[in-house]
Amino acid sequence: MIGIVSDPIFMRHDTGGYHPESPLRIQSIHNLFAGGGPDFILVEPQEAAVEDILQVHEKRYVQHIRQSCTSGRLVDLDPDTICSAGSYDVSLLAAGSIIKLADMALRSEITGGLAFVRPPGHHATSDQAMGFCIFNNVAIAAKWANINHGIKKILIVDFDVHHGNGTQECFYNDDSVLYFSTHQYPFYPGSGSLSEIGKSAGEGFTVNCPLSSRKNDAQYASIYQHILAPIVEVFKPGLILVSAGFDVHAMDPIGGMNLSSEGFGAIAGIIQEAARKINAPVVYTLEGGYHREAMRDSISRMLDVIIHMRNSAVEPVMWSELDTIMEMHRHNWNL
Ligand SMILES: [Zn+2]
Repeated sequence: MIGIVSDPIFMRHDTGGYHPESPLRIQSIHNLFAGGGPDFILVEPQEAAVEDILQVHEKRYVQHIRQSCTSGRLVDLDPDTICSAGSYDVSLLAAGSIIKLADMALRSEITGGLAFVRPPGHHATSDQAMGFCIFNNVAIAAKWANINHGIKKILIVDFDVHHGNGTQECFYNDDSVLYFSTHQYPFYPGSGSLSEIGKSAGEGFTVNCPLSSRKNDAQYASIYQHILAPIVEVFKPGLILVSAGFDVHAMDPIGGMNLSSEGFGAIAGIIQEAARKINAPVVYTLEGGYHREAMRDSISRMLDVIIHMRNSAVEPVMWSELDTIMEMHRHNWNL
């Protein structure tokens, strides 16, 4: 049974009237789950403890966020990132909900989970809100699973159109958390080049797949099939966390990629199959995605694959940019 966190409470993070990271994103997704269903359980959101947040973020940063939210006004944390009266509590709920799904999955109470939360997290660094992100939800959940369940190897997969600079930075020197990202490059936030592979003990445990724009379903499927799947087989993580960004959809107003909703089914299918082979639970969490109908369709297609085990019709293809990326990571991962 899959666990799903989807709750209108995540609309309480107010970003103002014209911000793309709008509360309405949650409303359109929640319509998929509001009626319940026989194939999933709705899991109540849960706040992360401050000490769990402090595994990733500096204390003065967490205090700064809490204080900024007490003013009752909209406060600019950076040129793109806004917080409001409800944002601190909702941010704790976002990180805590992923922790809760990971905990339930690691206790075998659910087989996997999806957390439709906001604000997103993958750009947030230890001391800086950026790119619509306040706390780095996925990084906090990875640290939590490592400390509280003793999971020694965790994989974070990030298919958002933007590179997850905050997540990469958190685990750059760390060989216990492998960060794998496909993203448009060059693009915001500027990081995520092919040569960023981690440092000292973490060398090889950051795997960036920077891509020029307009990549399609088949090209994405080939990266996940030919690079991610073999890495999962060799690394054998005990938990897989996925930063699911729907701004790679062709209709997205911010991203420049060319995926259809079917492409998300293909990516999820490859992740699920790789995870099944090594018996690792997968917990997905919402990052970007700013065309609400496209995002809802893409999530529907992913649920077909994850819950109903329907295969994707997308066939992976080989292409020249993929060879270059594979060549870079071949040495570390025997591709
Ligand atoms: Zn994004």
